[in-house]
Amino acid sequence: MPLSVAVEQFDCPTCEVPAGSTCRTRGGKVAPKYHTPRFILVLQLRAKLEVKTPADRGPGRA
Ligand SMILES: [Zn+2]
Repeated sequence: MPLSVAVEQFDCPTCEVPAGSTCRTRGGKVAPKYHTPRFILVLQLRAKLEVKTPADRGPGRA
């Protein structure tokens, strides 16, 4: 499973996008990285310090 898919199994506690969306910045753009509180929800990603968003994705809705 791609990392982005694994992370997006959960809503983001930080920017409040629903499952299936990339994280977004306060300005509504795609965040360069998924927020830490989101990917620590995923067991296989807990050891990582950051997870980048795919370049071809659009921002999720808050
Ligand atoms: Zn987020």
